[in-house]
Amino acid sequence: MTDQLERLNRLPLRENLRGLQPYGAPQLDVPILLNVNENTHGVPEDVRQAIVRAVEQTVAGLNRYPDREFTTLREQLAGYLGHGLTAANIWAANGSNEVLQHILLAFGGPGRTALGFPPTYSMYPLLAGATGTGYESGSRAGTFDLTPESAAEQVAATGANIVFLCSPNNPTGTALSLDVVTEVYEAGSAAQAIIIVDEAYAEFAHRGTPSALALLPGRERLIVSRTMSKAFALAGARVGYLAAAPEVADALRLVRLPYHLSALTQATAVAALTHSARLLENVDEIKRQRDRIVAGLTEMGLPVAPSDSNFVLFGGIEEPRTVWQGLLDAGVLIRDVGIPHHLRVTAGTEAETTIFLEILRSLIRPNLS
Ligand SMILES: *Cc1c(COP(=O)(O)O)cnc(C)c1O
Repeated sequence: MTDQLERLNRLPLRENLRGLQPYGAPQLDVPILLNVNENTHGVPEDVRQAIVRAVEQTVAGLNRYPDREFTTLREQLAGYLGHGLTAANIWAANGSNEVLQHILLAFGGPGRTALGFPPTYSMYPLLAGATGTGYESGSRAGTFDLTPESAAEQVAATGANIVFLCSPNNPTGTALSLDVVTEVYEAGSAAQAIIIVDEAYAEFAHRGTPSALALLPGRERLIVSRTMSKAFALAGARVGYLAAAPEVADALRLVRLPYHLSALTQATAVAALTHSARLLENVDEIKRQRDRIVAGLTEMGLPVAPSDSNFVLFGGIEEPRTVWQGLLDAGVLIRDVGIPHHLRVTAGTEAETTIFLEILRSLIRPNLS
């Protein structure tokens, strides 16, 4: 490993990439995978068949490049999101990670800075690094809260060109109030900052949690990013998308690779969207398991962050590494996100959730305070 690191260091790597670690959630062969917030309920059988039929029809035309404008997909995504959006407001790519990369390529780069508020999605600084964009870490209150005043003040003080707001936030699970978005948008007007609201987990939010999609009209620097990886159970298909002013999509056309969304990807996503109601049925069940985890952990005396997503961040763990390993030894993989005394777990099926709660209970000593 050190040997390999030495060899890497001898390569003419870009200076700003030196010393960075690649994204690296462990991919282990374990019976119960609750570590990367995938949809644990899979694609329902009838939707599977619809996807297979769509892919089969597409294979006949694989000698041709796909629709570079992925028009049908953009129309379907606009229809799914509602809020009066049309295909012109939509952009998509291979996962919302690529969508975010397109945004950084178009609006970031050398001499520009992105601002995020840790603990938040670990890919933001890596995507900034890869695109030569500076990255600044803002701060939250002790309980991971981000108030409109504090967020706006930090945006103005840094003069950031791009701001990442993650709502519901990964890894804390908590949704932001829309006041944070509007205040940050205003605070970014001097620097003409692009404000990204990453709503990867929006479908899992408690009923009545508003989406930043409602704020798009009249805000041409606001971008709402979504994904089919979580609620739609399609992490393996790699489809992420955003809604924004049409001119934002035009900016992203300048940096995407030609034909970046394969015909197979487009066919899969369109077939899934045609069955979105069926796919989203599992979301309600996942939310029930999420709430079971919150109740179970609270019963064990562990502090839990309020969750509007399909995962739960919990504290009160003296040695996260030991508990993480104990769960792994019992066949359950969860995530150590590097926050002292905390661990994160994805909501599983009912059976998986039961096993997780039972093993965890056996591993921790009850908090008697
Ligand atoms: C999982 C996740 C994504 C989704 O990434 P994809 O590339 O669409 O799979 C985006 N943002 C956050 C905060 C996530 O946790």
